[in-house]
Amino acid sequence: MAKLSIRDLDVTGKRVLVRVDYNVPTEEKNGVIVINDITRIRETLPTLQLLIQKGARTVLAAHLGRPDGKREPSLSLKPVAEKLAELLGKPVAFVDDCVGPAAEAAVAALTNGGVLLLENVRYHAEEEDNDPVFAAQLARLADVYVNDAFGAAHRAHASTSGVGRILQAWGRPTAAGLLMERELKFLGDELDHPARPFVVILGGAKVSDKIKVIDRLLDKADTVLIGGAMAYTFKLAHGGKTGKSLVEKDHTGTALAAEEKAKSRKVAFHLPTDTVIATPVDSGKVNKKGRPVYDLQNPRVVAGDIPDDAEGFDIGPETAKAYAAIIAGAGTVLWNGPMGMFEDTRFAEGTIAVAKALAEATAKHGTKSIIGGGDSVKAVNKAGLDSQMTFMSTGGGASLEFLEGIPLPGLSALDNK
Ligand code: AMP
Repeated sequence: MAKLSIRDLDVTGKRVLVRVDYNVPTEEKNGVIVINDITRIRETLPTLQLLIQKGARTVLAAHLGRPDGKREPSLSLKPVAEKLAELLGKPVAFVDDCVGPAAEAAVAALTNGGVLLLENVRYHAEEEDNDPVFAAQLARLADVYVNDAFGAAHRAHASTSGVGRILQAWGRPTAAGLLMERELKFLGDELDHPARPFVVILGGAKVSDKIKVIDRLLDKADTVLIGGAMAYTFKLAHGGKTGKSLVEKDHTGTALAAEEKAKSRKVAFHLPTDTVIATPVDSGKVNKKGRPVYDLQNPRVVAGDIPDDAEGFDIGPETAKAYAAIIAGAGTVLWNGPMGMFEDTRFAEGTIAVAKALAEATAKHGTKSIIGGGDSVKAVNKAGLDSQMTFMSTGGGASLEFLEGIPLPGLSALDNK
């Protein structure tokens, strides 16, 4: 069921409480907190500009980091208010609490078109507890609730869920912001009715993390391409040798069941035919956590079994070429999880090849390229191809749960159209 959108509402003169995702990376430099990446702030601008244009009184709620219910000065949202003012080209008021008399006075002082950012909601332990009294204090600040924080929509916290429920009970509208609306369009509608062939690419570390997504998408996909360490559990399930690679021995049955389901649904299911491997050699050093550091020596490609002393880190060039050819003929592609340990450039080529194939298919054939969050988004950004994808999700855990078909608390608290 489609969610009510901020577009559908008359908000002139109304107090609109907007939950945004301003959980930005910050760092202290010469005693000053600086924001290292403003992407999340920039992404809220369309919603905020629409609210300003409609003459709403916008009250922004967000969390930063994990202050665990304490006032941790380094996790204040004040620097975000300053950055937002710069990006909007207009003043953004800031109040050093998110509930209580100071917050209420700051909201009352707003005029039409004004914007106020509340202090970190996680300064109150009640936020993560989804405490109803705290949620009601937030609700007192709002005539309308808008959730634009898809990345936090899988959490049942007061500002993402409880406040919406209370406002609904008070008969006040709760709606999706423009960013949230886009997430629902691409991860929801577009995948429910994909342009065919619909190709699903799944990678990352573990089969167990992705199995629910695989299972659900096998009902819809025409082709599934597997990469990442997850592929080695499939290899093991088929009696192959995986050396020292990351495998989940107790999930070989899960892997075979997924292949069986694919077969019964006539979904083409592809596993890598070659692998980039390296030999881990103890460097004698330990990392910050006290664990031994291994040098990954002699990176090379193997077609079949992985030798006992070696470990797999990426799909090989033959697999990358085959996957790129399948992507070139796709109508819609959903990609979740890198093809290898892309953080190390020696093992990033498979992931980059997939990202390039997607960019090319999107440009040449109008393929809808949908990047389903988390590390695949990081990999596309790293390859500098982000602007060439149809859609990149802003969620990590939230995207995965949404793709698994789990109802997200942040969405359940929004009105249907
Ligand atoms: P996920 O969060 O499940 O999508 O997994 C992403 C992580 O899996 C990334 O940090 C990758 O470095 C890691 N990864 C992918 N392939 C491999 C591999 N072959 N060996 C070790 N780690 C891998």
